[in-house]
Amino acid sequence: MRTVDAYAATSATDPLVKTTIERRDVGANDVLIEIAYAGICHSDIHTVRGEWGDIAYPQVVGHEIVGVVAEVGSDVANHAVGDRVGVGCMVNSCRECENCLAGEENYCLKGNVGTYAAVDRDGTVTQGGYSTHVVVDADFVLRVPESIPYEAAAPLLCAGITTYSPLHHWKAGPGVKVAVVGMGGLGHMAVKIAAAMGAEVTVLSQTTSKQDDSLRFGASAHHATKDEATFETLANSFDLIVNTVSAVIDLDAYLGLLRRNGTLVSVGAPPQPLPVQVFSLFAARRSFAGSGIGGIRETQEMLDFCAEHGIAPEIELIDADQINEAYERVLSSDVRYRFVIDAATI
Ligand SMILES: [Zn+2]
Ligand SMILES: [Zn+2]
Repeated sequence: MRTVDAYAATSATDPLVKTTIERRDVGANDVLIEIAYAGICHSDIHTVRGEWGDIAYPQVVGHEIVGVVAEVGSDVANHAVGDRVGVGCMVNSCRECENCLAGEENYCLKGNVGTYAAVDRDGTVTQGGYSTHVVVDADFVLRVPESIPYEAAAPLLCAGITTYSPLHHWKAGPGVKVAVVGMGGLGHMAVKIAAAMGAEVTVLSQTTSKQDDSLRFGASAHHATKDEATFETLANSFDLIVNTVSAVIDLDAYLGLLRRNGTLVSVGAPPQPLPVQVFSLFAARRSFAGSGIGGIRETQEMLDFCAEHGIAPEIELIDADQINEAYERVLSSDVRYRFVIDAATI
């Protein structure tokens, strides 16, 4: 075991504080990563505040991790000391079920092991990336191409793959009209990735305040959803709608924007159910779907795609002592578009 510095939640209501945690010894198939940067995802906040269920404290969160390999176990062949690597939302899975065998460990039938606040296969509770070091099974460590700006790479490990996977699955590309609902951490990556895939991208945001950014990120149009006329103007327009909003939306209104055979896929997760009128689906053989992160193979594909197309998240780099303030700003949507913690300040 080794003791490392970290920022942890000690209860559902207190601010995160600097502390130390234990990391396991580097096993035969493990990689020790010296963390350089960790992104702040809205899921981190839900988790530490107990909004997604009770957790054990102290808890270190963070599942958008980039850093450098500091040590490898004897069986590790695909990562070497000094490599730039990343870790996303999961650090293990059963590896035996049909979904794991298909390379979609995110849909492991026994449940993938989350990077934090999850029970790993050895019975320990996982601790995330707001820390100086982490030990992760080599099979769940990604290669982060050097051409992606180092400090901006971290959010690709959650926001990047969460949006890439549905865009890839539903074949965003030339001739496909894609709408992205919500222009936050996830939404702005959906816009950049869909545009790089060659799709025609429209942003649907509450107001027009982010219109300039939408166009700069590759969208060809931006519409305000507060404006009722938007839903008439854009009726029957899109092949694919990626909904990144984590609040309840008027699903029927958005389904009405889909063309025949179109799909609305949700990657944002409101805690409440999303009611849907089945007639909204009948009207044009539409589908309502969900998508959760992505498998390791697809996450690597996403990182390589972003490197090839020169895509990176827009970030605001902060010191570790600003994490609590950053949480408040995330909750009031006051971030363009992702906070990243400089792990050297932990
Ligand atoms: Zn996340
Ligand atoms: Zn499995």
